Amino acid sequence: MRRFERKRAIFANKDALRESYQPDRIEERDEEIEAYMDALQPVIDGWEPNNIFLYGNTGVGKTAVTEYLMSLLQEDADDYEDIDLSVINLNCKPLSSSYQVAVELVNELRPDGAEISTTGYPQQTVFNKLYEELDKLGGTILLIFDEIDSIGERDELLYELPRARSKGDLTEAKVGIIGISNDFKFRDQLDPRVQDTLCERELQFPPYNAQELNNILSSRADIALRDGTYDDAVIRLCAALAAKDRGSARQALDLLLLAAEQAENADDETVTESHVEEARHVLERERVEEGIRQLTQHGHLTLLAVVSIAAEGDTPERSRAIYNRYLDICDGYGVDSLAQRSVHNHLSDLRMLGILTARENRSGSRGNFYSYELDVPLESALTALEDELDMQERFSDLRTVANLNGIR
Ligand code: ADP
Ligand code: MG
Repeated sequence: MRRFERKRAIFANKDALRESYQPDRIEERDEEIEAYMDALQPVIDGWEPNNIFLYGNTGVGKTAVTEYLMSLLQEDADDYEDIDLSVINLNCKPLSSSYQVAVELVNELRPDGAEISTTGYPQQTVFNKLYEELDKLGGTILLIFDEIDSIGERDELLYELPRARSKGDLTEAKVGIIGISNDFKFRDQLDPRVQDTLCERELQFPPYNAQELNNILSSRADIALRDGTYDDAVIRLCAALAAKDRGSARQALDLLLLAAEQAENADDETVTESHVEEARHVLERERVEEGIRQLTQHGHLTLLAVVSIAAEGDTPERSRAIYNRYLDICDGYGVDSLAQRSVHNHLSDLRMLGILTARENRSGSRGNFYSYELDVPLESALTALEDELDMQERFSDLRTVANLNGIR
């Protein structure tokens, strides 16, 4: 009979590899921290805070560095009697507009039981309630909007808030906004007047290289794994794989976590490079499947068009030819097809998700065009699509074609 039994052979503190863990030391970000501290200096000097805009890919330390600096700032601000600092941290990921952000903030600031409903007010009313709450709190207030890109174009709050004091809507509180974005394009898409104020101080966090990831990972492994259960080669491999992909510390930490779990589940005494390889495959498959699941039906059909051309060994292929294949597939599947323009949009979404890569070809008189190919193993894409589209026969044909062409 199998019973639960405590396994503690590999991990000393598994939680240290998880998302929620806040490291007490930040590695490899000295320059960024210095610039960030400069931008925060007015808080300690007692002036109105700067608005700060922080951007970089996921996993490059934006949230970790912000939390680290906020706790330092909070501590140091306590030394000055005339500074009354409040830091309010809001993750905007589940929020898709300024309205929702404002409601969330009002409710954060109000005592339990006095929350407002999430719908039904005109936007300006919610903004006014927010100013009221901020003024009631008073002092210096830093509002951290993490993953702010999720509000998309509904960015009115980012225009209104920085101007509230000069317009007389805020009289007591000195408010600074720290906007954090994973999406480089978010900044450019903002209303130019929003850019002017919100991006008063801009900080960019570049991807980590292999050496930097190696250092971040070594210090973390020190806490998370037992001595003697891993060696430098394992850390180096996780760092190298993550550096080659997106330069994300999150990705490197996930690889190490999963590799160590593989070792533990197999009752192995050490984590090896082959556990890391296994972990990489698992993560890659999860990423692809997750991305593919999020697509709409026509996203799936567009991807299927690329997959079926790839099975024949003919990618990269131009978007026009991909569109023709898509039309065939829609025909066979009995669904109405979309216009070429929409299929283009699906192709660029697939590219953003890291499922396709695109090359730009210049062709003189006819302008530029794109060619697309899969950026994930063919089999991963096939498996994920198979769950979404009910086309058994087509998939077995595709596998046969891919096998004949030696494509995996
Ligand atoms: P982002 O907010 O940019 O997506 P995070 O700050 O969440 O990235 O970082 C991802 C993970 O990597 C977190 O677990 C964080 O603790 C860790 N991390 C990132 N950068 C560093 C660093 N410079 N030093 C130590 N740990 C880091
Ligand atoms: Mg973050």
